[in-house]
Formats: sequence, structure tokens, C-alpha cells
Amino acid sequence: MRAVPRDRFVPRGHATDAYADEPILLKRDATGALVSTISQPLMVAVMLEELDVRPGDRILEVGTASGYNAALLAELTGPDGLVVTVEIESDLAARARLTLSDLSVRNVEVIAGDGYEGAPSHAPFDRVMVTAGAEDLAPAWAGQLREGGRLVVPIGNSNSSTMCRTYEVRSSGLELLREIPCAFVPLRRQGISGRSRRPDPR
Ligand code: SAH
Repeated sequence: MRAVPRDRFVPRGHATDAYADEPILLKRDATGALVSTISQPLMVAVMLEELDVRPGDRILEVGTASGYNAALLAELTGPDGLVVTVEIESDLAARARLTLSDLSVRNVEVIAGDGYEGAPSHAPFDRVMVTAGAEDLAPAWAGQLREGGRLVVPIGNSNSSTMCRTYEVRSSGLELLREIPCAFVPLRRQGISGRSRRPDPR
């Protein structure tokens, strides 16, 4: 966390708040609901501990937002690894791409799209980290992980009941290792913010 300058990822005018242990608002929708924040550093650190990244890992992040956590993941996996991060708000994806390139972070690929689908063209991954509250596990996340891989994901999208779960992929299926209370903006499906709606497979 000392290696990644969080002040470069916060909106203009917030540089003095950058090293407080607080989330910072990035975007609201037309109704005023929270769409995106840069997550609270303590929660980011807890989730990164849970993810247990090894040098050279291929990592999928769902919910790029500012790109701050993607930069931390890039630092942890190092130059031999790859971070693929997916953001449903294309303006946020574009801004994160710029910030990361300004900081010369080279092993991160930012994709504008629905992270519920993972990133099939870059799979398989060693680690998957979801940074928005999901109602349930998306089949793609475990499906795009190698055996022995880890998935860290906040489940439940009302702030009071979200649990950050850590799973490991076993030959027998997903094993739940831990649950830690947390709060995240909800994961949305493509279409909800005005794009063409696809039928929900569930
Ligand atoms: N990791 C971020 C914080 C994520 S906030 C950081 O380091 O700053 C959650 C983000 O998830 C928001 O930007 C939101 O737009 C995005 N999001 C919500 N639903 C999504 C989806 N289905 N696919 C990809 N991103 C999504």
C-alpha cells in the first residue's frame, strides 16, 4: 500500500482525504444512489490478505472504479503476472485506464463491461476479487478459476448484511474458508444503467 499513491486515484479536490481510512465517492446515478466509490483502505487490505496473491498470478478484478485496487493487485503479482479488471461504467473504466498508464502500471488490462461474465478471453485465473456486493456467486467467477485458485467476494447487497467470503476451488467444488462483515456498493447487471438489457439467466 505504500507503493501505490492513493492520492492519484481520488477525484480532484480530494487529495487531502486520500490517506484517511475512508471510502471516497466517485459516482452517483441520476436518482442519487451510490454507483461507485474508491473502497475503504482497511477493507481493501483485509480482502487482499484473504486473496493471498502470489508473484506471477493472473488475477481478475470485478469493479475497477478508480483502479486503485487494480494497482495494488499489480504490485502484488509483479511484472510476470497479469491483472484483468472489469468495470461496468465505461467512463470510470476510461479514467482508470488513464490513471494507471500515467503511473506506468503496465500489467493491468481494464475492460469496460459486465464483470458478472468474468473475462473469458483472459481465463483461467489464479485469483478472482469482486469489489462490489453481489446477490449471489456468478458462475463465471469460479468457472474461470484454476483448481487451487481463490475467490474473494462480498455477498449480499444491502450494506447491513454483506459478508465478504473467501472461497478456494477444489476438485469437489468451492470451499468456503471465511466470512468477514463488510459494506460495498451493489454489483449491477448490464442494462440497469441504460444499456440494452439482456435476459437474466437465473
Ligand atoms: N475496486 C475499486 C472499488 C470498487 S467500487 C477501487 O479500488 O477503487 C465498485 C465498482 O463496481 C463500481 O465502480 C461499479 O460501477 C462497479 N460495478 C458494479 N457492477 C458491476 C458489474 N456488473 N461489472 C463490473 N463492474 C461493476
